[in-house]
Amino acid sequence: MSDQDQKLCDSCHERPGTNHICYGGDAGKSKSLCQVCLMQDSELGGMMQRFQEAVQTGSCKYCGAPAETSFGASTSFLGDHYNLVCMICFNDLTEFVRQPENARLFRPDDDMVPHNVATQLADYQNRQAEFMKERVLQRKSKS
Ligand SMILES: [Zn+2]
Ligand SMILES: [Zn+2]
Repeated sequence: MSDQDQKLCDSCHERPGTNHICYGGDAGKSKSLCQVCLMQDSELGGMMQRFQEAVQTGSCKYCGAPAETSFGASTSFLGDHYNLVCMICFNDLTEFVRQPENARLFRPDDDMVPHNVATQLADYQNRQAEFMKERVLQRKSKS
């Protein structure tokens, strides 16, 4: 069984299922699909397509440049709330998330008091918005 570790596509059982998709909310369905079947799956392919269309027609929520991707990729293309950003803002967001005081929020083994989570999250979102506002201003003043 040693060379059977690679999970095969749940649909064609021929190619490796390189796209692991969780969806269905409470039902908690998941699938591993190859690229070909992912695009052919009416439900998932439709979601991917809607996401790509949203990126193509949308603009960055921070600086207004044409959107290139979405921040928080694992959940953002399920559902209609895409966090569309350009690549520059994506990099800025990544930098923000990596700052120690922000990375801390996502470590479950922390001493965070549970009832503070909502407050901390709101605080985090405020600081993120501030951080991005500053970054966008800096960028505009340079050019
Ligand atoms: Zn397949
Ligand atoms: Zn941007």
